[in-house]
Amino acid sequence: MANKTLGLEKNLYDYLHSVSLREPEVLAQLREETAQHPMSIMQIAPEQGQFMALLVQLIEAKKTLDIGVFTGYSSLVVALTLPPEGKVVACDVSEKDTAIARRYWLKAGVADKIELHIAPAQETLDRLIAGGEAGTFDFAFIDADKNNYDNYYERALQLVRPGGLIAIDNVFQSGRVADPQQQDNRTNNIRALNQKLHHDPRITISMLPIADGLTLALKLR
Ligand code: CA
Repeated sequence: MANKTLGLEKNLYDYLHSVSLREPEVLAQLREETAQHPMSIMQIAPEQGQFMALLVQLIEAKKTLDIGVFTGYSSLVVALTLPPEGKVVACDVSEKDTAIARRYWLKAGVADKIELHIAPAQETLDRLIAGGEAGTFDFAFIDADKNNYDNYYERALQLVRPGGLIAIDNVFQSGRVADPQQQDNRTNNIRALNQKLHHDPRITISMLPIADGLTLALKLR
């Protein structure tokens, strides 16, 4: 995992931030508070959040999925970009982490745009599909437990509309995917998904070396 872009020299990374980061104060405060969290590495990088907001704007998304909320940065950066009628359906299992998230969503004035489901994400996604919401989402961000990534991907692919976009986080696993010595479950699961996506005929893809690797999958029309 990485809460900054891997493989960039610090001076270049600092430069990138200095000339392009437009992080609203409330997001900067959330990032600062999350830095004290023992799992702060799970926070997405600010340049990644800004990029996702740009994508959401680009496809004129109104309804999005956030699979893996943690302290709420990704939900918040998207909610701030959505139009007033926009909605983020957010999935997480932790009451404790999402209590921090809720506090910042309120502070930012977008709490009414974010619908939080505290349950295993797979159950929430299955409920959405059973409830007739397949094909109604414009954007999905997958950033939860890595061993279930393929399950999340398959469900997200049903839930997004044709032309909708799925962003999959941590596809580099801090570089471990490229090291054959690393044979832990998480890394092997991400490797298998990366390989599956490479030639998946249902999507077009781009794997970006931003943060800890972010794969974009566009659902074909
Ligand atoms: Ca992540």
